[in-house]
Amino acid sequence: MTFTLALVGRPNVGKSTLFNRLVGKKLALVDDQPGVTRDLREGPGRIADIKFTVIDTAGLEEATDESLQGRMRRLTERAVEMADVCLFMIDARAGVLPADEVFADILRRKNANVILAANKGEGKAADATILEAYALGLGEPIRLSAEHGEGMGELMDALRPLSEEFAERDKRDAPETDIDIDADAEDDDDAVRVPTRTRPLQIAVVGRPNAGKSTLINKIIGEDRLLTGPEAGITRDAISVQTDWGGVPMRIFDTAGMRKKARINEKLEKLSVSDGLRAVKFAEVVIVLLDVDIPFEQQDLRIADLAEREGRAVVIGVNKWDVEEDKQDKLRELKEEFTRLLPQLRGAPLVTVSAKTGKGLDRLQQAVMRVYETWNRRVTTAQLNRWLTGMLEQHPPPAPGGKRIKMRYATQVKTRPPGFVVMTSHPDLVPASYNRYLVNGLREDFDMPGTPIRLTLRDQG
Ligand code: GDP
Ligand code: GDP
Repeated sequence: MTFTLALVGRPNVGKSTLFNRLVGKKLALVDDQPGVTRDLREGPGRIADIKFTVIDTAGLEEATDESLQGRMRRLTERAVEMADVCLFMIDARAGVLPADEVFADILRRKNANVILAANKGEGKAADATILEAYALGLGEPIRLSAEHGEGMGELMDALRPLSEEFAERDKRDAPETDIDIDADAEDDDDAVRVPTRTRPLQIAVVGRPNAGKSTLINKIIGEDRLLTGPEAGITRDAISVQTDWGGVPMRIFDTAGMRKKARINEKLEKLSVSDGLRAVKFAEVVIVLLDVDIPFEQQDLRIADLAEREGRAVVIGVNKWDVEEDKQDKLRELKEEFTRLLPQLRGAPLVTVSAKTGKGLDRLQQAVMRVYETWNRRVTTAQLNRWLTGMLEQHPPPAPGGKRIKMRYATQVKTRPPGFVVMTSHPDLVPASYNRYLVNGLREDFDMPGTPIRLTLRDQG
């Protein structure tokens, strides 16, 4: 996780220019298509090794009836609320104007983390403004030229201590902020995601008989076993345990327990898929546990595919790694098989573990948390549309029978798992391969491994 940097300041000081420089050209394409939701422009920014999310408030400077001052006040207040750090920009060529003082006032009152920058600072004309700017009471101004890329080193120096502070904060808060992100609470105009924890993270461990599911679960819960036995209100067959795994409350659905309970009069094979199915339905994250001696059996593939079709986040665990002698070759072979046999789970983490010794369980836990976060990921409409423009330019859709397919815009309609809609002409003429190109692009460009991604093409004439 990183921090959020908002670019604030009156119109024309160079916010958009700096935004483009921080984000890089490709993602910063301005979205000027009618009908696309207007929101704060937001993108992944970077100076050297410092990474952050950058928000450009210029995106909201559209004609409204509000007075300029009222509008600026509202925008700035909103930016301050959303951001960890505000980069307040003034125009060094124009000098400090009354409007700048209004901003400075808001920022001081809101007690924001502020970095003051005098932009358009190339050339001598800026010298006087730099001195004047001290009077804003926001510390030493950084002299920038967004257009020419000057002053970026100074900006980096100013950001570094803040960046380290926020990294510390994220580490401290990780259990609280990383889990359970409310799916419906935010809309695209607001912050990227709103983390709230309402209940333990629900995971299921599935796999063929003897893969080591019971051993794994017992190892995870250790002495902390809080609850066993049937869970009232779910189904009488579902057995789950609540535990604290790596500091995170989790409820683990124990398919092995279910199987053993019903073993008496059902065939093992059949039963293990059907109880796996039940567990998958309850789970948010599914761990498909394989036996290293017989990995990717038919049954494993079926349950993994089912987890994907049910829209769960998936982690592949390869168990009994302690008995494997040629670990390096085996790992290569496993990865190759994974890619070939489960292309629908592309990018899902594959983690080797030993349930018996406990080796690798911390990596397994981290993988669970990672895919869970991805499963909850929300991408803003602005980011998506810049992305879509790039994808269409790089590789335009075909024109079957001379009919041109025009894709107009994209928006994310859901999370858990992420679901997107692309408005397009002739959706039924878009080949499946193009659909895959877009899904793979989403996965790569927005870094979403380990989660199913749903993409719907919707007709827009
Ligand atoms: P915004 O309204 O604050 O987003 O400002 P823009 O980024 O649209 O910039 C307003 C104008 O200032 C544009 O014409 C830019 O080319 C120009 N500009 C931005 N940064 C610089 C700079 O560092 N030096 C100079 N000379 N002009 C700049
Ligand atoms: P389940 O049917 O999937 O619940 O599998 P169990 O947990 O009952 O384990 C099946 C067998 O594999 C048992 O004999 C376990 O002792 C063994 N086993 C489980 N995990 C490991 C492991 O990490 N290494 C080794 N060597 N054996 C394991």
